[in-house]
Amino acid sequence: MRSITTFDLQYAHRFYGFKGEAQYLHGHTGTLTIEVEDSINKGVNMVFPCNEIKKTAWAVLKNFDHALVLREDDPLLPAITGVYEQQGILHGHPQNTLKGEAFKTELAKAYPDARLVVTKETMTVEGMIKIVYDLLKDKLNIAKITFTSGDNAASEEYTDRKEIERCPLCGIALTEEGVCIKCGYKK
Ligand SMILES: [Zn+2]
Ligand SMILES: [Zn+2]
Repeated sequence: MRSITTFDLQYAHRFYGFKGEAQYLHGHTGTLTIEVEDSINKGVNMVFPCNEIKKTAWAVLKNFDHALVLREDDPLLPAITGVYEQQGILHGHPQNTLKGEAFKTELAKAYPDARLVVTKETMTVEGMIKIVYDLLKDKLNIAKITFTSGDNAASEEYTDRKEIERCPLCGIALTEEGVCIKCGYKK
């Protein structure tokens, strides 16, 4: 069975070099749906608590919220960072508090202090799904990711299932030592 969580991300981007309107900077509210698949955890009668899926995903994906997403070779990047620098907001600001954990993968690097994500490929809905899977594949048993943004939508299904041991009392993933960091359960 699957546990499913959905949340919104507000971001700005553009398709650098694309022959169409999307080559101009613009913004979206994107909706991301993550489906986690496993057996039912008998102790709690769930696959995985949806709020925990959201918490795990949001910790890193918050980097895309109220953020600018640009490809690494986009000349807007040095222009924007130049202005942010001048304005004194490139390396953070007291009101820039809703920050995600900085991350760096093959496909993307987040700069939470500047609310910037720099990507290797153009951030289409398909591109976003690749980035999200890469960030979360070791933390969640993801069966499907769907991302919709404006008129665009894409989804991908995954069959690569690993064993994630879950707490029989609250349902979250146990540590390697078999401990639940939420309720204190020990295997
Ligand atoms: Zn767009
Ligand atoms: Zn627990």
